[in-house]
Amino acid sequence: MRDFDYIRPATIPDAIAAAAEPGSAYLAGGTNLLDLMKGGITSPERIVDITRLPELNRIERLDDGGLRIGALVRNADLAHDAAFAKAYPAVAEALLSGASAQLRNAATVGGNLLQRTRCSYFHDTASACNKREPGAGCDALGGENRLHAVLGWSDACIATHPSDFCVPLVALDAVVEIEGKKGRRHVTLAEFHLLPGETPQRENALEPGDLIVAVRLPAEAASFAANARYLKVRERTSYAFAVVSAAAALVVDGGKIRAARLALGGVAAKPWRARSAEAVLLGADANAATFASAADAALADASPSGDNAFKIELARRIVVRALISALAGTPERMPALPASPFSNIPGARHDA
Ligand SMILES: Cc1cc2nc3c(=O)[nH]c(=O)nc-3n(C[C@H](O)[C@H](O)[C@H](O)COP(=O)(O)OP(=O)(O)OC[C@H]3O[C@@H](n4cnc5c(N)ncnc54)[C@H](O)[C@@H]3O)c2cc1C
Ligand code: SF4
Repeated sequence: MRDFDYIRPATIPDAIAAAAEPGSAYLAGGTNLLDLMKGGITSPERIVDITRLPELNRIERLDDGGLRIGALVRNADLAHDAAFAKAYPAVAEALLSGASAQLRNAATVGGNLLQRTRCSYFHDTASACNKREPGAGCDALGGENRLHAVLGWSDACIATHPSDFCVPLVALDAVVEIEGKKGRRHVTLAEFHLLPGETPQRENALEPGDLIVAVRLPAEAASFAANARYLKVRERTSYAFAVVSAAAALVVDGGKIRAARLALGGVAAKPWRARSAEAVLLGADANAATFASAADAALADASPSGDNAFKIELARRIVVRALISALAGTPERMPALPASPFSNIPGARHDA
């Protein structure tokens, strides 16, 4: 790890001014940033520690019925907030399916949105990687790529975004609140993460110095509370990133789907909102045939980027499974292994 300056500003404007200097990086929980620094994948000259900034660790109910979650709220604290889990069960389920209990205790809301890809070539500084070094090439193309993207990828980069949390958030129309040198602005999460195109090094809508101050959920997001699930398929039962995941949320009345939200994880460089599938679901009968058609629509544009054609069929099946689970109703208590389609201990708590 290279030497770096460390500062801990007392105010948001001071933090933004410091981080706007080239070579700076914000430090929140540090669970991703410090790993990348230790591996030499990123080498900031100045660390701007935001953990003591005021007012970023609050969960606030807004006058319009929405919710505002401060960027420094810990993933574990948010998932275990009883009122939050009741109103947004798929988000709590996604949070609990991410990482380990120790990591969730340290990881923050803002940091989770900005965690970097788990592409192994990105993490290996001896490999060619356009994201790490623009123009270098991409060793994942033609390499070990069975876990790479099947939607929205380009010849420059086929990496996926690893966050679980972001998947239900994008389905529920979450908005990222950002403060920068020009003031405060709001960007939908759907527009926040960028597809790789020719510039995979540019991963999100942030400008130098921009600080995520909060994530907002609109009032409507809570209307899905009774029928919302997050399902994650991973390669081992303990902590692991998603091979494929899906967040499904429905409003069902008289057997008809009155509102539907669907998003996928592990398939693209951003949490993938499946709007074409939502269009299939809206107004249709809530049954297996409808869900299969929705899954086909969600994956209609998918194509393998390497040895990962299996992910397309897996994603179809997870979409159907997530919709069936959502239709069955949000469980009173989270399954023992949150978000696992294989859980066989209904109602047991995951307290680890
Ligand atoms: C072993 C392991 C397993 C994991 N498994 C999962 C998993 O299954 N699912 C999952 O979703 N995640 C998983 N993670 C990732 C983990 O969730 C992230 O590392 C964590 O959410 C990042 O949050 P942080 O607060 O620690 O961010 P940091 O490491 O502090 O920061 C991450 C990035 O965000 C920037 N940043 C942080 N906060 C702000 C802000 N407010 N404004 C602007 N920039 C900011 C930092 O500069 C840095 O670039 C795993 C991590 C590890 C180490
Ligand atoms: S897939 Fe993207 S992150 Fe991975 S090596 Fe290629 S350019 Fe780098």
